[in-house]
Amino acid sequence: MTLLRHTTGDVIEREALTINPAKTCQPVGAMYAALGIHNCLPHSHGSQGCCSYHRTVLTRHYKEPVMAATSSFTEGTSVFGGQANLLQAIQNIFEVYKPDVIAVHTTCLSETIGDDIPQIAKAALDGGKVPAGKYIIHCNTPSYVGSHVTGFSNMTRGMVHYFAEPTDVKTDQINLIPGWVEPSDMREIKRIANEMGVKFVMFPDTSGVLDCAMTGEFEMYPKGGTTIEQLKTTGSSKATLAMGDWGSYAAAELLDSKCKVPAQFLDLPIGLSATDRFIDALRLTCNVDVPESIIEERGQLVDMIADMHQYLYHKRVALWGDPDQLIALTEFLVDLDMLPTYVVTGTPGKRFEERIQALVKGFVPDVKVKQGAGADMYLMHQWIKQEPVHLLIGNTYGKYIARDEDIPLVRHGFPILDRVGHAQFPTVGYKGAMRLLEKILSALMDKQDRDSEEERFELVM
Ligand code: SF4
Repeated sequence: MTLLRHTTGDVIEREALTINPAKTCQPVGAMYAALGIHNCLPHSHGSQGCCSYHRTVLTRHYKEPVMAATSSFTEGTSVFGGQANLLQAIQNIFEVYKPDVIAVHTTCLSETIGDDIPQIAKAALDGGKVPAGKYIIHCNTPSYVGSHVTGFSNMTRGMVHYFAEPTDVKTDQINLIPGWVEPSDMREIKRIANEMGVKFVMFPDTSGVLDCAMTGEFEMYPKGGTTIEQLKTTGSSKATLAMGDWGSYAAAELLDSKCKVPAQFLDLPIGLSATDRFIDALRLTCNVDVPESIIEERGQLVDMIADMHQYLYHKRVALWGDPDQLIALTEFLVDLDMLPTYVVTGTPGKRFEERIQALVKGFVPDVKVKQGAGADMYLMHQWIKQEPVHLLIGNTYGKYIARDEDIPLVRHGFPILDRVGHAQFPTVGYKGAMRLLEKILSALMDKQDRDSEEERFELVM
């Protein structure tokens, strides 16, 4: 039985209805970013149900336990505000779970009430509920605006707001803000920077937190994450490389205005061209040479593209997910001579359509791009009904369309609920691009093998 059999190709302009949105709620992103601080306990200021949802979706994606606390709003809290609950929570958390920092994010309910988190945190501090050397940070994440990416960005900015210390004298260190990528990607960005001989601090950093080794011991706070000491030094760095405007712009911009650390804004280093620009930015900013090892990785990727080009040429692709990922993926697909034809994101923000249109200009004349409230999986399915594609790239929610239309799906982005590997194997950098290429090719060839008639069934490509 088909799952989306009622979807038709007749698109009717909708103003007040989203069907299968291509986004999730702000606090999910705030919680993910907070887990990138070492010894940090994220705290959801709202009802238990919100916190359970945020933890569940992160746990299902990363296949790791996600620790977080909640203010446990009840009916009374909804009327009188959550100050008493948060004060009690802060005391309990520091006494029982002993984090270095509690990262509070709001929810729809606490935002609607209008709880003032800095005022409550100050009351906790004045009331002796915050032990010496411990911290409370916060960000506002009303989920009726923005998306999980906005929440990630807000919490990353909060790290700068609370910890970055301005200095007159700058060090030779740079800041790397990786944006919302996988722990594997953060690990890979660090490997590349180390390979280049660059001195850096990266935040947030969920590697070592959400891609942990099985040791037989439960660790409330795994060994990974950016330390508070490292975060404090971000204000004395000589430059910031911010990857992905939607995830990293706000933090980099605040580092510039608060601490006079100049920022360069890059795309996520996914694919050949974006990785080239990342490597070049490291080279120029830190005055280092590109080592032979990185040049070799690039050469391997180019060789792989040349070998596989005939199978990729002019294949039409539909992709959905987060703007930073989609911009980088679109450029990579164009580099591969593939046709990113339908591009959908539920995350709002400026210049998305403009960026996609510029990347495909003169190459994909029938491109369709949609962003915001009406940009959903339903609309994407309708476009596919009108004119099919060869490949889908996006999160797990695309599997219904993949099944209904018999189109191969490459899982990429957030959330991926039904596969593993994304937390362990990167898609950033040249090595990551090779993995992505392998996945794209395998998906296309598997379908070709499955569908081919016997006399055309080939052992050798
Ligand atoms: S959308 Fe709002 S109410 Fe729903 S889980 Fe997210 S924060 Fe809670």
